[in-house]
Amino acid sequence: MTNVLDLFDVNSMLDDDERIVRDAVARFVDDRVLPIIADCFEQHRFPAELVPEIAQLGLLGSTLQGYGCAGLNSVAYGLTCQELERGDSALRSFVSVQGSLVMYPIYTFGSDAQKERWLPSLAAGESIGCFGLTEAQGGSDPANMTTHARRDGSDWVINGSKMWITNAVIADVAVVWARTEEGVRGFLVEKGTAGFEARDIKHKMSLRASTTGALFLDDVRVPADAMLPGAAGMRGPLSCLTQARYGISWGAIGPAQACLRELLDYTETRSMFGATLNSKQSIQERLADMARRITGAQLIALRLGRLKDAGELGAAQVSLAKWNNVRMALDITRDCRDMLGGSGISLEFTPIRHMLNLESVITYEGTETIHKLVVGKELTGVSAF
Ligand SMILES: Cc1cc2nc3c(=O)[nH]c(=O)nc-3n(C[C@H](O)[C@H](O)[C@H](O)COP(=O)(O)OP(=O)(O)OC[C@H]3O[C@@H](n4cnc5c(N)ncnc54)[C@H](O)[C@@H]3O)c2cc1C
Repeated sequence: MTNVLDLFDVNSMLDDDERIVRDAVARFVDDRVLPIIADCFEQHRFPAELVPEIAQLGLLGSTLQGYGCAGLNSVAYGLTCQELERGDSALRSFVSVQGSLVMYPIYTFGSDAQKERWLPSLAAGESIGCFGLTEAQGGSDPANMTTHARRDGSDWVINGSKMWITNAVIADVAVVWARTEEGVRGFLVEKGTAGFEARDIKHKMSLRASTTGALFLDDVRVPADAMLPGAAGMRGPLSCLTQARYGISWGAIGPAQACLRELLDYTETRSMFGATLNSKQSIQERLADMARRITGAQLIALRLGRLKDAGELGAAQVSLAKWNNVRMALDITRDCRDMLGGSGISLEFTPIRHMLNLESVITYEGTETIHKLVVGKELTGVSAF
């Protein structure tokens, strides 16, 4: 029987392990996330009580080897993002930040001592991390950061601030990127360090089930071994972003599928002008267009994952995928919101929550414009930033 959410049978291109991982996360989302997530969104509350279960499922740093990590391939990891984001972008964001933006740099650029100190507890969800790159004066141009660190004896002293940081107020450790005399470097700053403070950002109308905050560093003194030894220059943070953007390309498929599923059900029973909505040509056209765009996004994500596992992934390919797939999801959730009529503005239905979340997803990890410019540079060889 045709799976209306997978018209090109991408499922058949997965191996058994990938399907098992996807289905386990799907069950978790159905059983544990969907019953509470609308309330979390409404209450502006991150469901921290789910973190141990997310860790138990092996979803934190899931592609890393050792240190209690699951060692999944990239496609299986992508499918976990898809299923988590079908629940809510907040949960996928939590997992992306912990895995791609905190554990990945420690794993890739950290010393053995840093890895031993942090990776097992981050994998187990016993510690939470955040990633401080963006500053108030402009996240699209992170090389223009003003946060700086200077050597003082064998210590480093960091000053500056970071804005729009996922997990900031709940993090035990922050990966803070700062300008130094030897270029941009990454520092592991622990909660409770003198002069270091995280403050919640309130009044968000998007990603309300995620915590976002600002970091303030006022003469924060850290020892020499708090610096990530393997990351020098912008290559460090940018390589983390490539990892996270990869997961987002998969994640965006989840909300689009959830909304299409809901609209197929809704239009089957909603009667208008003497016939069900799903019998109207323009409604079918809109539903068909959603299926077309979801199918394209699924094929892009799968190809991206296979390229990543083959070690052949390029940054422009990730940009194209993030741009295409998030735009696809945002357009679909907005259109589903409209097709629900007045009900579409209620959290009783999922489109408005996903739609509002995706307004963040299309902005963070590089805005849509920035990804278009990355692809434009790939085509022309000319940087238009
Ligand atoms: C909910 C949320 C969570 C986040 N989590 C994190 C996190 O954990 N860690 C972190 O470091 N950051 C995080 N961010 C920050 C995010 O990455 C930035 O918001 C994003 O990069 C955009 O930066 P900005 O907000 O400063 O916008 P700006 O960079 O000021 O961009 C404003 C507008 O200008 C456009 N623009 C920029 N440059 C150009 C150009 N050259 N040509 C044409 N147009 C251009 C942009 O596309 C955008 O439309 C998060 C953001 C949000 C909303």
